[in-house]
Amino acid sequence: MQPKLIVHGGAGSTADSKGGVEPARRSLYTVIETVYPMLLNGESAIAAVVKACQMLEDDPRFNAGTGSVLQSDGQIRMSASLMDGDRQSFSGAINISRIQHPIDLAQYLQTSDDRVLSDYGAAELVRELSVPIFNPLTDQRLLEWMEERKNNFQSKMAEVAMGTIGAVALDRQGRLCAGTSTGGRGFERIGRVSDSAMPAGNYATKEAAVSCTGIGEHIIDEGLATRIVVRVTDGMSLHEAVRKSFAEAESRQRDFGAICIDATGAIAWGKTSTVLFAAYHDGSTIGDTLD
Ligand code: ASP
Repeated sequence: MQPKLIVHGGAGSTADSKGGVEPARRSLYTVIETVYPMLLNGESAIAAVVKACQMLEDDPRFNAGTGSVLQSDGQIRMSASLMDGDRQSFSGAINISRIQHPIDLAQYLQTSDDRVLSDYGAAELVRELSVPIFNPLTDQRLLEWMEERKNNFQSKMAEVAMGTIGAVALDRQGRLCAGTSTGGRGFERIGRVSDSAMPAGNYATKEAAVSCTGIGEHIIDEGLATRIVVRVTDGMSLHEAVRKSFAEAESRQRDFGAICIDATGAIAWGKTSTVLFAAYHDGSTIGDTLD
């Protein structure tokens, strides 16, 4: 099987929040250039997705790991999930702090009885695993939060947000995996739960895998990732499933995007947002969704 890979760094109304299209494209291409060879070398879709997510979490341009946006109380709480399509197994961590790679926790939970942990329990696990404490705060995000505080957090969503990251891979053995990691919507109420650690935002089976980004509440209302995957599982082509799901979303004024791969190796993406920051390797070339 020829491996496939697609990664995203969020969606939004403008490319300016990531410092423009070119720097965002360079970041995404670096991830593809590093991770696609892993798949060629026979590494698993899970290993590829985790590596891609770690790299994107480390990039302060994106709203995940380092560079996560602050919530209304000035704290960073991150969420991440991983879904192994081959075993149809979902795991995730919700609203965790002080960790470099939230995706690592999601990966660890793949083999646990309790596969989705939130704030207090997730923090306990981080301590149990002796994961080093890490502060993902950047000066830029702090300044943005202070600016927004002046307006009493009137923005519907952090302008800088929607830089959630995600990756979807198909490996040589035909196994699919999807991973998503986020700092959230930005300026949200404490306790708000992101779609990124729900099957609505990140879902995979043996047939298809999807990672979403955009306004989490919209993604949850559409059950977006699950909707696309189930359509493919029921026999629709990936491109038709994406087209139909986004046409429905458009009619309900949703604001989001999604990246997808199916078991035949088809790659697809969709967006109702103006921009979707994504890049892919289709087996012969690297391409992107930015023009
Ligand atoms: N979906 C994320 C959330 O609402 C935000 C994003 O994709 O940028 O938490």
